[in-house]
Amino acid sequence: MTTLLISPPSSMAHATPPGHPERPERLRAIEQALEQEKFADLVRIRDVPAADRDAICRAHPPRHVDALVAAAPREGVVSIDADTTMSAGTLEAAVHAAGAAILAVDEVVGGSATNAFCAARPPGHHAEKATAMGFCFFNNAAIAARHAQKRHGLQRIAILDWDVHHGNGTQDIFWDDASVLYCSTHEMPLYPGTGAASERGAHDNIVNAVLHAGEGGESFREALEVAIFPRISAFRPDLIIISAGFDAHWRDPLANINLTEEDFAWATRELMDIADRQCGGRIVSLLEGGYDLQGLAASVAAHVQCLMRG
Ligand SMILES: [Zn+2]
Repeated sequence: MTTLLISPPSSMAHATPPGHPERPERLRAIEQALEQEKFADLVRIRDVPAADRDAICRAHPPRHVDALVAAAPREGVVSIDADTTMSAGTLEAAVHAAGAAILAVDEVVGGSATNAFCAARPPGHHAEKATAMGFCFFNNAAIAARHAQKRHGLQRIAILDWDVHHGNGTQDIFWDDASVLYCSTHEMPLYPGTGAASERGAHDNIVNAVLHAGEGGESFREALEVAIFPRISAFRPDLIIISAGFDAHWRDPLANINLTEEDFAWATRELMDIADRQCGGRIVSLLEGGYDLQGLAASVAAHVQCLMRG
């Protein structure tokens, strides 16, 4: 039983403007929480290769990569959209965040670890095929899923996205791909506006379970138990990827769902049970959102402790 913690140092080099919620301090808060004694058995990897162009282009067209390379500033910050900005360190952070997800797949599918958590940024689930948006540039979960299929020959990948925002990017990339099941719980109405239950993908391979402002753990657990977990089990995935955002925590300033860290722990345990039955326990978990430092750190700690079977 090995759990990896993959944290590329370049994640800190993606600078955002003052007051921006998606900031390097998020990773410092996580790092501090995971320094506790109970996490001593985590296998920590900081030396992460950058994702190469071919790996990124399994989820994005080359023109998307070229446009970001062209937009990257040498200094200062440039805006890609109203809330998505690039600094001099952004591209390097983004290719290493994708690289961390790829490394996690390699290690988990290769058998040297049962599961892995990537504490990297920028996040990825809002990045569509050819659009960077919502703090995201490359869709780390999508790149990891396609890498698992193309490089390791896995057939079916299930992605569970419990970030409080809908993963419009992941849905866009896999809309027409029956080999990937994308399942999301998210608040609506809320950014980015997609994710209605009627959005089901070209092959009924998208499952959107909507939560409403003010709801909490009871609604979240019901959404997973009724709408999502049976679908993941029936899909018989070879690997499960979590788009692990923690902005549905009650403390989070960007949304209005009232989860506690125990809700994230419960969801992790339930998903691990499915993974144990379906795919040898293989789970790759990727940090997405989570903007209250205290809520984020406590939630990640609860999530990772479960992954370690603590
Ligand atoms: Zn989010």
